Amino acid sequence: MFDLFQLPKADSRLQNSHVSRGVGIVRSHRKVTHDTHEIVISCDENFRFTNAEAGQFAVLKFPSINRPRPYSFARNPRSAPLSESTFFIREVPNGEVSDWLKSGDRTGSKIDIAGPIGKFTLDDRSGPLVCIAGGSGMSAILSLIEYAAELQVERDCHFYYGARSQRDLYCELEIENVTKLWSKDNKFVFIPVLSEEPSMSDWGGLRGLVTEVLLSDMELDSDINFGLASYFLCGPPPMIKAAFSAVKKIGVSSENIFQDNFEDIRSATPVIDNHRCVLCDECLLVKPIENCIVEVAELGFGGDDKVRQYKRVESGSTSGLYYNSLYIDESKCIRCFACVDACPHDAISRKYSIRDSLRQKSYD
Ligand SMILES: Cc1cc2nc3c(=O)[nH]c(=O)nc-3n(C[C@H](O)[C@H](O)[C@H](O)COP(=O)(O)OP(=O)(O)OC[C@H]3O[C@@H](n4cnc5c(N)ncnc54)[C@H](O)[C@@H]3O)c2cc1C
Ligand code: SF4
Ligand code: SF4
Repeated sequence: MFDLFQLPKADSRLQNSHVSRGVGIVRSHRKVTHDTHEIVISCDENFRFTNAEAGQFAVLKFPSINRPRPYSFARNPRSAPLSESTFFIREVPNGEVSDWLKSGDRTGSKIDIAGPIGKFTLDDRSGPLVCIAGGSGMSAILSLIEYAAELQVERDCHFYYGARSQRDLYCELEIENVTKLWSKDNKFVFIPVLSEEPSMSDWGGLRGLVTEVLLSDMELDSDINFGLASYFLCGPPPMIKAAFSAVKKIGVSSENIFQDNFEDIRSATPVIDNHRCVLCDECLLVKPIENCIVEVAELGFGGDDKVRQYKRVESGSTSGLYYNSLYIDESKCIRCFACVDACPHDAISRKYSIRDSLRQKSYD
């Protein structure tokens, strides 16, 4: 049996993870590039993200779109007016939210909002910061560096930003502001890298893939100590994967690499290994969707190994203790992966299949 006194503690960076829910109104909606929208949401007086931290995200439910989506706070929530949150949303082909934003000015729309969620927050080490973002990954990184500048952290920072061409660059003013505010004895360097900029254009900056530039800077071991740095990677999964393996190549420990993967509905749902679960409730506290994680008595499988139905344990009919299993309902899960980050026992992952997890349980 588990010794309660030996259970690892929940990650201290999840202390403010309890999710609040409220209603907001889109106060402004504008395009910051040809395919990226900025929306500023004002929440009603009774609902404010008083505990939100830079780097975290919220879950937004847009009118007439059934499934909510996760979006990172794009400005430092600590310095934004208390009831206001800004988001950068990049259009994806045939995306529901993308199409909704494309089809007109959404100022005045009512949005259901839940948060703050996630632990992509500033660490308390003293080494340099290396931030790597692509596309709308600007959002969480901008909020992190705004926060670090406001705190006057005494750390150098290199911010590598990958975009296709000059028309995909945005937030120049905000980054200029961070550069001005950065602690005087430390460096803040912004390094935009363009992968598809026409060769004849007037662009005088770096070209290629942002991860290639990072790799060559690390090999040259330029003016930043890459070995001692904390790495913040944010944006599309392929870019994060490439940046992660570049950083691992120089022997950085995974503990110093923080990732905010902008996955979407096409990703596989995480799975709970009930054999490892110690019923600590952390995943249930951070989950933004009602019933995305449920306590079940039995799972029913179809011929293709997919769960066809489950028998829920109804509240009131149990002692209040879990003596069954936790199950992630694929039809409700929005792939925010908050539960994976929250579980202190690595019981939730993208690696296990439900079958494996049940087999392991019954064999042990
Ligand atoms: C923690 C986190 C933070 C995030 N932060 C941001 C952020 O700050 N900014 C940002 O822009 N994005 C962010 N995202 C991504 C965001 O949540 C959405 O996934 C993204 O905006 C796409 O939403 P959509 O409604 O436009 O597309 P969706 O309708 O969700 O579709 C996404 C893609 O899947 C395809 N698709 C949909 N259904 C199917 C199907 N049944 N079969 C095959 N393909 C299908 C669509 O064509 C589309 O290309 C974040 C994601 C996570 C997990
Ligand atoms: S099951 Fe996990 S990944 Fe899915 S919506 Fe709930 S918290 Fe997010
Ligand atoms: S899956 Fe992890 S976080 Fe959720 S109750 Fe079990 S041990 Fe706790």
